[in-house]
Amino acid sequence: MKYALVTGGSRGIGKAVCVKLASMGYNVVVNYVSNEEEAQKTAALVREYGVEAELLRFNVADYDETIAALEKWQAEHNGEYIEVLVNNAGICKDNLMMWMEREDWRKVIEISLDGFYNVTQPLLKPMLVKKFGRIINMVSLSGLKGIAGQVNYSAAKGGVIAATKALAQEVARKNVTVNAVAPGFIKTDMVAGLDESELKKTIPANRFGTAEEVANLVGFLASKDSSYITGEIISINGGLYS
Ligand code: NAP
Repeated sequence: MKYALVTGGSRGIGKAVCVKLASMGYNVVVNYVSNEEEAQKTAALVREYGVEAELLRFNVADYDETIAALEKWQAEHNGEYIEVLVNNAGICKDNLMMWMEREDWRKVIEISLDGFYNVTQPLLKPMLVKKFGRIINMVSLSGLKGIAGQVNYSAAKGGVIAATKALAQEVARKNVTVNAVAPGFIKTDMVAGLDESELKKTIPANRFGTAEEVANLVGFLASKDSSYITGEIISINGGLYS
């Protein structure tokens, strides 16, 4: 039995990643924070591949809640472990710095950066003991380039990028790879308010990407075919920042 956990698996990129991992034979643990209805839809798509789908609700920003949920999962799966972790949950709260409220700074950092710690730290030891693991962090073009109006989001994703590179060096000997995927504009709820017809003019590929395109890259990084790739930040942005 192989298990993968995708945080923020109820919608958007996370949902497509759950489906991709299911197609690769993984039982998928679908995390979400509030939208159970959408999480159930993801689970149904996962089960179409003949593998298990389990919903696991927790707020990645809440350390105690995350630990309690992961400990409960482990207690119910004696001898099993999560070999693929996709840290995908994220939000943005865009504003220019001069108007940015402390709460919007904190929320974005807590979900992306603290969330990375809260979920990865407890799941790392079993990967090291079993001598196999894949950790894939969903970052962003913002974390590489810095984007005006997204100082909080750029800082959070930039932090995860640095953490990816550092952790990769700690665990490479144990066959655990740690990589990050940095999407540009991908059609999901997160970008629903943006003017695609204007923005696509700035993208060499002249279109937004799809969640499935990002999921295919995550699938490759989760597979054994990517064994010698670690500590990398792989852009997927239609040439916007390459
Ligand atoms: P989305 O459609 O808004 O979906 C966000 C997902 O994250 C939902 O499943 C949501 O769960 C979950 N989530 C949010 N806060 C959470 C929390 N505190 N704990 C657990 N789950 C939480 O977003 P998306 O566009 O797919 O983005 C996915 C990731 O890709 C994010 O990290 C984002 O920063 C990154 N990204 C996206 C783009 C883009 O253009 N879309 C570009 C670059 C990077 P609920 O359904 O329960 O709310």
